Amino acid sequence: MSKNATLCFKVSDTINCPKCKEKKVIKNGRTKNNKQQYYCKTCCHRFIENYSYQAYN
Ligand SMILES: [Zn+2]
Repeated sequence: MSKNATLCFKVSDTINCPKCKEKKVIKNGRTKNNKQQYYCKTCCHRFIENYSYQAYN
């Protein structure tokens, strides 16, 4: 039994796009480092979960 989940896009309401700051972000699979990848539907920008991890020093 295999379900095709391509049509099952879940829009996250916790993650903003680091580029346009919109929240129309969907999950876009994982990288080979097993990090969650996201895709912004507003500006078509792809980014990784902790991409904007620059505030902590
Ligand atoms: Zn964006």
